Amino acid sequence: MDKINDAIFLREFFPEKCLKITEINQQENQIRIYAKSITTQCRCPKCGTLSTIYHGTYTRRVQDLPILGKNVRLEIKAREYRCANDDCDATTIAESFDGFLDPYSRLTKRCADFICMLALETSCEGCSRICDKLGIRISGDSVIRLLIKRYESLGAPVVGEVVGVDDFAYKKRNTYGTIIVDERTHTPVTLLDGRDGESLREWLKNNKHIKVITRDRASAYAKVIAEELPDAMQAADRFHLHQNLLEAVKKALNQHLPATITIPHEVETRDFEDPCKKNRCQCG
Ligand SMILES: [Zn+2]
Repeated sequence: MDKINDAIFLREFFPEKCLKITEINQQENQIRIYAKSITTQCRCPKCGTLSTIYHGTYTRRVQDLPILGKNVRLEIKAREYRCANDDCDATTIAESFDGFLDPYSRLTKRCADFICMLALETSCEGCSRICDKLGIRISGDSVIRLLIKRYESLGAPVVGEVVGVDDFAYKKRNTYGTIIVDERTHTPVTLLDGRDGESLREWLKNNKHIKVITRDRASAYAKVIAEELPDAMQAADRFHLHQNLLEAVKKALNQHLPATITIPHEVETRDFEDPCKKNRCQCG
């Protein structure tokens, strides 16, 4: 009889140098994987010092990507270290297992990556519902918190010397904002409150390196840019150039067209034969 390979080696899906799987418990809707840390040192996230000062052991319960629709929980006997740098204010250091698990996170990094990707493609509540069907338990509010945490960890984006400024509506005729886009990368840099130019003024004060700003025709932005960055070039963006051109064409046409155009009432009928007469039918 042929030998059937029906086994997968779960340990290969975990950082083997840092974690050792000790037990796997398969239940009806959940797979529990028990593991223990086998690290001997840890890098302090605050000062970067490599520490070997053992502080204690504790159990971390985290969620991983599901296996065949079954929820996967990890129970890890993790170690805590103390920072070797006396000048560092970090009290204890939690392990990250080579980036497998962020310190203090309740999700593995790959699970958090998947949730963030799904939320950005759908919505936080939609993501929560899809995750539930797949075997990941997370609420919509937790998805929002995860996205915010990820966004905050990105740090301030590097802004080039050429940016575009425009307004947009959070709610039309009610609440507006200002968006700033890096024109070289075509990526949004930041969103500011309001469109009166005051929030833009504060932002420009911290970004004096900007040399070219494309903008709409609103005078509020033009005035603020001229005051804060008098040497920067202001350029109308393509959309507003088109808008300017269309308005100029419309104005020119209006000047040459008469105010009223009369459509003659008498229509030449000689070329048309009455179908009723032709077919001798009785109408009406
Ligand atoms: Zn430290």
